[in-house]
Amino acid sequence: MINKNLLSIVIIIVLSTNVMSQDFFEKGQYIQPNFLDKNYLVDKNFDVLHYKLDAFLAMEDSSFSGDMNIKVLITQQSDSITLNALGLVFTSLKVNDIDANYNMYSSQEKFTVFLPRTYNASETLDVKISYYRDLTTLNLPYNKKGYYWFRKNLDSKIEENIGYTMSEPYDARLWMPCFDDPSDKATCEINVTVPDGYQAGSNGLLIDVIQNPNNTLTYKWREDLPIATYLMVISASRYSIYKQYYKRVSNPSDSIEIVNYMWQVDSAGSTWNAVQAFTRVPYMMEIFSTIFGEYPFVKYGHAVAYPFYYGGMEHQTLTTIHRGWISVNAYPFYDDYIAHELAHQWWGNLVTCRTFKDIWLNEGFATYSEILWREMAFGIQSRDELLNRYTRFSDQSWQYAIYDPESQGLYLFTSNVYQKAGWVLHMLRNLVGDSLFFDILMNYRNLHAYGTATTEDFINVVNSTTQKDYNWFFNQWIYGRGWLKLAYETSYDENLKDFIISIAQVQDNSWPTYKMPIDIKFYFTNKDTIITIWDSLRVQNFVFNFQNRPDSIKIDPDKKVLKQIISQPVLVENNHIQNFYLYQNYPNPFNSTTEIRFDLLSNSYVKLIVYNLLGSEVQTLLDEYKPAGFYSIKFNAEKFSTGVYYYRLLTFPKDTKKLPIQSKDNSAQIRKMILIK
Ligand SMILES: [Zn+2]
Repeated sequence: MINKNLLSIVIIIVLSTNVMSQDFFEKGQYIQPNFLDKNYLVDKNFDVLHYKLDAFLAMEDSSFSGDMNIKVLITQQSDSITLNALGLVFTSLKVNDIDANYNMYSSQEKFTVFLPRTYNASETLDVKISYYRDLTTLNLPYNKKGYYWFRKNLDSKIEENIGYTMSEPYDARLWMPCFDDPSDKATCEINVTVPDGYQAGSNGLLIDVIQNPNNTLTYKWREDLPIATYLMVISASRYSIYKQYYKRVSNPSDSIEIVNYMWQVDSAGSTWNAVQAFTRVPYMMEIFSTIFGEYPFVKYGHAVAYPFYYGGMEHQTLTTIHRGWISVNAYPFYDDYIAHELAHQWWGNLVTCRTFKDIWLNEGFATYSEILWREMAFGIQSRDELLNRYTRFSDQSWQYAIYDPESQGLYLFTSNVYQKAGWVLHMLRNLVGDSLFFDILMNYRNLHAYGTATTEDFINVVNSTTQKDYNWFFNQWIYGRGWLKLAYETSYDENLKDFIISIAQVQDNSWPTYKMPIDIKFYFTNKDTIITIWDSLRVQNFVFNFQNRPDSIKIDPDKKVLKQIISQPVLVENNHIQNFYLYQNYPNPFNSTTEIRFDLLSNSYVKLIVYNLLGSEVQTLLDEYKPAGFYSIKFNAEKFSTGVYYYRLLTFPKDTKKLPIQSKDNSAQIRKMILIK
């Protein structure tokens, strides 16, 4: 989903075009729905297998009635089941065609069905409910939520009466009884009856259109692939249809339809132009199918909505978008968002977040897909332009952890789970490399296709694909708050030819101390060179032995890390005084043994560790308490192969009982040495 709040930058850019401005600053009569309602989960003793909904939309007013048939598999012996509904009046409820008792708990948005007998695990049953919507007692804005209906000409831009559903995260229960939680996916049939002249779109394939004797039409839709309730949709108006085709990359002779619904004046008009806006959709499907695996559903398409309180919503196989996205003047500005909703068909719809705590698995992935679309279609420069636009340190939500926004008092959909989470995926890609990154996406897809996944499921795929433990990465970037804030200073020792970069992580102490590889680019008169360091402490010195002082340096020149460079003295903020000096090893380069020497200025706990070029520890030379003094430690490299190694000295305050791994009071220095055999 893309929420209007996330579109602020777009608004600024398109304001001058005059057409768009009003669409995103809604007029007074439209109120942003509130999202304070909670998802009342129940102890679940069943699994929904299939929803069959017959929905009747009057279209001349907001009335909506339905016959819902829910096929349920009992998973634990039980004599009742509890489902969700809100604002629905039941006129009958039957279990296997027999009237059954039920209790409605409106304040908890749920109802309990008392089964006619005790059902055992693995038995199935049908719950049939006839109902109509009556939201008058709920005090919702204009009785709209879940199902939205607007009259033609109520606003000069409403061309025809329009009715559509919008459910994410918790509003499907406002238009159909269901188990309204993303963890339980089922198949569905949605049959929509509307007056003659109206079109009604929904999920999956259009199986039939029936002309009824009472001047109504019934559109019969069927989605045979599992779908979460928040992804089910009905979109109805006097629409015209514009079809495109996508030739499957896995089988070009198989093409699937892209069915787009819009008002007649919008299809190729001078103000709104869907044909133009959707031009690149088949190409987007081609690109995403190439990098994420084949498009996982049997059709795609868009339904254009206005008024619409959101930007876009990735309903399975039929994305709903705001009319503003097909504005002629804004083209091709909304391509990124059109790509975002399309990417959700993989990340959100094929693999669904199991809980809304894991919403970043939907939104961060869809946002990063925009970045990938830019890169694949237009190149690195275009990609980096978008990445740059998506770096939003001033956004308050970025100060929080990405995981579980609502438990931190955040609205579920903020830039934190979109752009910041997209950045986390970009960092992961830089960390593991392209080949493994795209393997991770493919393995994640294959393992959880047509099902659901949690953050831990994704981390498990990352670890198993790379054969490494990346929990530390997710602990800091997904479960931890904030982002990396760096301050740095440089100095050059003419005698020792040492260039020293002191880097401080100056983010709030309640945020993680980040461990990240960071490229440093050194510019010399006739050349430049990039060296990757592993930053992992609140204050850290990196020493490079250069014959000449570099003219300048650039931290993270290719923008691989989500970091903010702060201009401030390194040592003041952290009140840090380094209590040792680490000398260049001697001899260097060396053949099999070398001496590593350091001055320790105060009694400290000391660690001296040797790393290989990839930053992996190869040997710990010291890990003990030492009194102040001069030390010379022998490093025997007989069992190591030729190459570049680093040695790093860390000290911790002398009263440290237990060695802190990431204390802000410790300090470290690192040097390079060369082994030649
Ligand atoms: Zn989204």
